[in-house]
Amino acid sequence: MAEKENLNKVFNQHVQLEDFFTGFTVNRQKPAQSHQQARPQNDDVVPQLAQIAKEVDACRKCQLGDLRTNSVPGEGNPNAQIVFVGEGPGENEDLQGRPFVGRAGQLLDKIIAAMGLKRGDVYICNIVKCRPPENREPRPDEVISCLPFLKRQLGLIRPKVIVALGAPAAKTLLGTNKPIGQIRGKFFDYYLEDFSPPIKLMPTYHPAYLLRNYSHENRMKVWEDMKTVLTELGLPVPKK
Ligand code: URA
Repeated sequence: MAEKENLNKVFNQHVQLEDFFTGFTVNRQKPAQSHQQARPQNDDVVPQLAQIAKEVDACRKCQLGDLRTNSVPGEGNPNAQIVFVGEGPGENEDLQGRPFVGRAGQLLDKIIAAMGLKRGDVYICNIVKCRPPENREPRPDEVISCLPFLKRQLGLIRPKVIVALGAPAAKTLLGTNKPIGQIRGKFFDYYLEDFSPPIKLMPTYHPAYLLRNYSHENRMKVWEDMKTVLTELGLPVPKK
């Protein structure tokens, strides 16, 4: 019985997800192209990101390095204006070595599509690059060991906006303990370590949280946050 209820829940979420995050009249004025043209390409970024991925793969600074199947350094457009930062790889990500490829990842893809963008337009990565067992939250020592990789990625890509997906990402990047519900929807300043001007950081709910709490209200909150990001970037805001 419980299994049937779960199946129904998953089915309903899927239907609503199709309806909500793809149900916009997306302004197809080649957003991907305008997005990429907005910034000059730095040829060094690609090999340097590849170097970070190599170092991540060799890393054994914390126990997660010994437990993983694959490391998940991150992927996407090295010239992205938006970097999405999650908490840490889950089971599917660990198996494939790619971020956000499970159910939460499918929802993130829908959110990106609803924004009029493609997954390849943005960069997607995590606070920790190896899967914590049982998908638990990364421990402070694991975050401390792994964070330099993310900082280097952000310093190379230099996005205009970082979207922190969920409380662990927002807490780590902003050094706050406030609940995600209190800080989402507003821009914060994220400082790189080279004293360059701050990058705007938007905390929002993690897609996995949305899947667990799939209410219209929560989906609207995430959509409002993404509209704020698009407006900040001067990109078209698709109408529902
Ligand atoms: N959740 C995350 O935070 N990151 C992933 O890559 C997948 C699920």
